[in-house]
Amino acid sequence: MKNKAPGIKTVGKELRRKLKNAAAGRWEDMRRDIILFLGLALVISLAAALSNEAAGPVTYVTDGDTITVDGVGVVRLADVDSPELGAPSGAEAKEYTREQLLGKQVFLDLDNKTGTDKYGRKVCVVLLANVDGTAGAIFNRMLVDAGHAKIEDAKDNEFNPADWWPAVPSEELGDKKYVGSTKSNKYHYPECRWAKKISPDNEIWFSDSEDALSHGYVPCGVCYPP
Ligand SMILES: [Zn+2]
Repeated sequence: MKNKAPGIKTVGKELRRKLKNAAAGRWEDMRRDIILFLGLALVISLAAALSNEAAGPVTYVTDGDTITVDGVGVVRLADVDSPELGAPSGAEAKEYTREQLLGKQVFLDLDNKTGTDKYGRKVCVVLLANVDGTAGAIFNRMLVDAGHAKIEDAKDNEFNPADWWPAVPSEELGDKKYVGSTKSNKYHYPECRWAKKISPDNEIWFSDSEDALSHGYVPCGVCYPP
């Protein structure tokens, strides 16, 4: 008898207690609704935070890594550093950013951790607009790929620059062991300093030395691939 499930009498008592506390319960329910609503709002704002929290045309380019976006203000590209304007490479970096961004619509992923840097500039990942109006290429990455900035990962912001370069699956890398240029007959280890000078447009990849030799390529005299 002791372990019997609650009888009708017990359930009825419970129901009466609930009815009695209904007034107080209303507040409980309301509080639950508010928490649910705030949770939902948070999920929606997090989703928005992933790509385009702000957008607008670029109205001014200060230097390679600093721009002004209409309606947003001065934006400092997150986790990259372009050379100073005084250096020739700094002027080149600015020119690159001008060519790519000035007058164009961009999307901004704002840093929700720091917000602004010590100069009050908004720390952002800048995304180019695709022709269909959606957010496209990551300009922070483009600046690095073009050789106009280096990665300088500030750990206090929400961004991780490593995310800008999607990992290449290892099965794809299997066919890409040695690299040559269509403009020469040498093949290299990808780490070779000469390999790094090959423009991506001219790269030709080989799965092994036999593959390279059969294409008329010879081993580089600096990195000595087999
Ligand atoms: Zn080499």
